[in-house]
Amino acid sequence: MTTATSSTLQFACQPGCSKCCEVSGYVYLTEEDVTNVARHLGLSQVEFEARYIYRTRHTRRIRKPRQKSKQCPFLVDGGCSIHPVKPLQCRLFPFWPELVEDRKAWKQTSKWCPGIGQGPLIQIGTALELANQMRRYYPETGE
Ligand code: SF4
Ligand code: SF4
Repeated sequence: MTTATSSTLQFACQPGCSKCCEVSGYVYLTEEDVTNVARHLGLSQVEFEARYIYRTRHTRRIRKPRQKSKQCPFLVDGGCSIHPVKPLQCRLFPFWPELVEDRKAWKQTSKWCPGIGQGPLIQIGTALELANQMRRYYPETGE
């Protein structure tokens, strides 16, 4: 059995799981996400934004569905309905700065993300590089 050490993290996303799509929070989109998802859905960027995007001054995020129980309009029974083009934020989870840089938060997240503690050991440097992509692409998500 492999065990994570102070210089590694252990993670492998589990087939059939979509728990991270169900927790409360926003899905922020990069410019590239908007282009890719709109094309995938066969919508113009304008149509896609009008239907699915909520804008703030610096960010664009996926509008939440009206049902309180649902967090993301693209979550369906079989999982993410836009899986091939899912936003960078979703692809990078759980390698987000606030989790990678805080062992307590990582451990806390492992209580509901069954992929944490499974699969290969990932060097902390690699995890930090992934987390830095979040900083680079979503510098203003604090708004
Ligand atoms: S909660 Fe964890 S294991 Fe489940 S889909 Fe999300 S990243 Fe994968
Ligand atoms: S876009 Fe897909 S992966 Fe991201 S939260 Fe929505 S359903 Fe989950």
